[in-house]
Amino acid sequence: MTTAPKPLPLLDDARPHWDAAREGNYLLQRCRECQTYLVPPVYDCFHCHAGAQALEWAEVSGRGTLHTFNIYHRAYHPGFADEVPYNTAIVELAEGPLVTTRIVDCANDDLAVGMSVQVTFVDHNGTPDIRLPVFAPDRGTTDDIDTSSREPARNRDGETP
Ligand SMILES: [Zn+2]
Repeated sequence: MTTAPKPLPLLDDARPHWDAAREGNYLLQRCRECQTYLVPPVYDCFHCHAGAQALEWAEVSGRGTLHTFNIYHRAYHPGFADEVPYNTAIVELAEGPLVTTRIVDCANDDLAVGMSVQVTFVDHNGTPDIRLPVFAPDRGTTDDIDTSSREPARNRDGETP
C-alpha cells in the first residue's frame, strides 16, 4: 500500500543530469579547468573557483564502491512508509566523487562497505518522467576499472577526506 508520493528531487539546477537519467545515462557536473566532479551541482567550481563557463556535464562509468550506508527503521516521510527498513548510501564512484544514493537488489543485511556497485535507474513514484540513479551490487569483474587518472575525492572545501 503506497500512502503518499515521495518528495521530488530538485530538478532545475541539474536538468542535464535528470534528462540523461531518464534515458539511462549517468551524467555529473565537472569542471573543465581542474576536472573535479561537482556533486551536488554548483554555479562555480568549489575546488579551483572557475566560473560557470568552465562547468560541463560529463558521463561517468556508474561503477563504484559502497563508501558507507545507513538503515532507516522508521519513515521520516510518508512516501517511504512501505519500504521500512530501507537503506541510504554513499557510493564512491570510480572517477572519485561521492554520491548519496540507495542500494537496490541487495538485502540490507548483505550490504558491506567496500562492495562493488553499478548504477541502475528506478522510476520515481512509479513514473518514468523522473528516474533516479541508484546502485546495485556489481556481480561482474572489477579488474578492468581504470583508476590511474582518478583524482582523490574532495569535500566542498576542496580537501581530501
Ligand atoms: Zn575547477
